Amino acid sequence: MTTPWGNPHFDDHEAVHFVTDRASGLKAIIAMHSTALGPAAGGTRFWHYDDEEKALSDVLRLSRGMSYKNAMAGLPLGGGKAVILADEARTKTPAMIAAFGRAVNRLAGNYVTAEDVGITVEDMIAVRRETDFVAGLPVEDGAEVGGDPGPHTARGVYLGLKAAVARRLGRETLADVHVAIQGAGSVASHLARHLAADGARLSIADVNRARVEALAAETGATIVDPADILFLKADVVSPCALGAILNEESVGRLDTAIIAGAANNQLATPGDGQRLAARDILYAPDYVINAGGIINVSTEYLADGGADLVRQRIDAIPGRLEQIWDEAAQSGRDPASVADAMAQRLIGRA
Ligand code: NAD
Repeated sequence: MTTPWGNPHFDDHEAVHFVTDRASGLKAIIAMHSTALGPAAGGTRFWHYDDEEKALSDVLRLSRGMSYKNAMAGLPLGGGKAVILADEARTKTPAMIAAFGRAVNRLAGNYVTAEDVGITVEDMIAVRRETDFVAGLPVEDGAEVGGDPGPHTARGVYLGLKAAVARRLGRETLADVHVAIQGAGSVASHLARHLAADGARLSIADVNRARVEALAAETGATIVDPADILFLKADVVSPCALGAILNEESVGRLDTAIIAGAANNQLATPGDGQRLAARDILYAPDYVINAGGIINVSTEYLADGGADLVRQRIDAIPGRLEQIWDEAAQSGRDPASVADAMAQRLIGRA
């Protein structure tokens, strides 16, 4: 394994902590990319990696992404991320999670954790027993903010999608606008309800048959084969399932005017942002449009406001997208590159 400095995803990360707890078998890496705007915040991923280098690459890349996402959402938070290196059987024990919580606590609030892939709310409740530096916990009795980020993410995506439709198609409402949604999970379901209420025409696909059927029954959407959903002739394609779905091959086959969805890391490479622009497909940079969840989590953690502040911060997402699209149009660069540059300026790394 290379040192963090030798890894291609190293981006002047402020600190990279390698955590070991022999008694529980915990092996983890906590990366703090930037604390320029506040404590480095970002979830913990529990994942089996083929080798340690891949885990290091993942945590370096994801923590930088969190710096950009938090900065662009206007949050007083920096960017960080943790990965717990699972064994092949993905053995997760209470002792391991507790040891991870103690490791987070040793960072004294400079890193704040939450759920990510492979980590449940129950795991975070266990982490909370060891440290205060956790968010994404269930809503406490009487609290306005907290709990499932999915509905908040969906609301931001809905507002951003509407802004994209107004800009690219010149349509002020979503009535009869055809949206193809990849995924029928948490965010996709809430998004589909918003869109259906506005009279949009929906096509949806999910590898989970029961889930897609339930959502179609509720929203009147047409069910599409998962292999076809991205390539449907539609006004908008909304990726709400997997990352890296926009690559050289798939971008060439798209038949849509707009990409606006919740999935993280939609572009396989930065060149795919340029490919979308070259095809005149308006792209809503993923970490800008999908920030509703982190906005809710941040407001819960920092306790700097209630449901109104969450709403206001999510309402600002379309404006941020407009700024990106304007700068892209003026400069001739693609929106994803413009968003990265804007985020770098915000964290003082232009
Ligand atoms: P989820 O697990 O609830 O839903 C994902 C859905 O995608 C599942 O129903 C799954 O069966 C489906 N899926 C998997 N592979 C598929 C395929 N090949 N074709 C079609 N469907 C497929 O997850 P979620 O919380 O709704 O998140 C969706 C995406 O949005 C993820 O990329 C996530 O990282 C991102 N995101 C979520 C949030 C949030 O608040 N939940 C915030 C920001 C970003």
